[in-house]
Amino acid sequence: MHFSNTILHWFKKNKRNLPWRNTTDPYKIWLSEIILQQTRVAQGLPYYEKFVHNYPDIKALANAADDDVLRDWQGLGYYSRARNMHTTAKFVVEQLNGQFPDKYIELLKLKGIGSYTAAAIASFSSNEAVAVLDGNVFRVLARYFGLALDILSNEGKKQFQELANSQLPHDNAADHNQAIMEFGALQCVPKNPNCLACPLKETCIAFDQKQVDSLPVKLKKLTVKHRYLYYFLPMYNSSPILMMRKRGSGDVWEGLYDMPCVESEKPLIEGALVSEFSERFLNPNHQKVLEFDNCFIQYSPELKHLLTHQKLYIRFINISELFFPEFKDWCLKNGYLAYRFEEVSNLPKPIIIANYLASKYSTNSLSII
Ligand code: SF4
Repeated sequence: MHFSNTILHWFKKNKRNLPWRNTTDPYKIWLSEIILQQTRVAQGLPYYEKFVHNYPDIKALANAADDDVLRDWQGLGYYSRARNMHTTAKFVVEQLNGQFPDKYIELLKLKGIGSYTAAAIASFSSNEAVAVLDGNVFRVLARYFGLALDILSNEGKKQFQELANSQLPHDNAADHNQAIMEFGALQCVPKNPNCLACPLKETCIAFDQKQVDSLPVKLKKLTVKHRYLYYFLPMYNSSPILMMRKRGSGDVWEGLYDMPCVESEKPLIEGALVSEFSERFLNPNHQKVLEFDNCFIQYSPELKHLLTHQKLYIRFINISELFFPEFKDWCLKNGYLAYRFEEVSNLPKPIIIANYLASKYSTNSLSII
């Protein structure tokens, strides 16, 4: 087992000291795995510490309010992970007597836990002999063994899983799995790995055949949807008002709060934005011929926010006080409420909105109605 022995030896010398490596509690390992999906370690670490502090066990998380969990998650993105995590915590407390499973088959039955996460929790917490397969592991295996199958195809996944299983030392699954993931994160990195300093270079096929840059193979391309969102903040007594509503299901940011907005697939030029605003928010009997400068008194630069399949282009616009009564009526009829700044800071919000409000407004500069 040259491959496994080499990375285990490398791991001993190079591993980072991360808090979830110092526990075998499946609940805490699960927290770390959910937080670290699609998130870099440096970004995820403070969230892990916050969740362990605020919800030290599964019961504490199950009993937490939805809004508190989402607020603590704020900034990590992919909010369905937080919602699934909360649902799973309640399920474990109500149906499994509060005992978080540590066996692969049992873990797979839980919401939000796929084969990778189940393998990670089972091997790290109870040393169960199941091989993990995540982006780092695919890359290391593809390069070292020269496996040029598309990692997104079913056949590719099957063969990579077989290869991963064949390399797993059954008496040391926890360390081996952590070692290969860490090796992919620190040594066999996606771009320009330092192969000359790699302990596997003598037997690495990609290095030998100069294929490091072309492996692993990933054929499917994500199609990215572009969305232009124009958020409106009405002015009242010369200050902006925050009208906010919890977002429903079926779109990004489920369960988070945001302001009324107009959305478009293309950027809206001034006249088009004014007419969209007027049609959406003003009383049809009163719809006026509006001028951009009279209608919108201030607007932010365009801010970009990248999600997995979507790119959002966002502007925040202050509406002239002239339209406050009609705009407010529309908001109240459509489930929006006016919030004070202190209240808003406690609501879970998309991070781009939270950052904008924090940078732009202080407690004193927002009006109260
Ligand atoms: S030699 Fe290069 S490509 Fe091969 S395993 Fe090491 S870092 Fe990865």
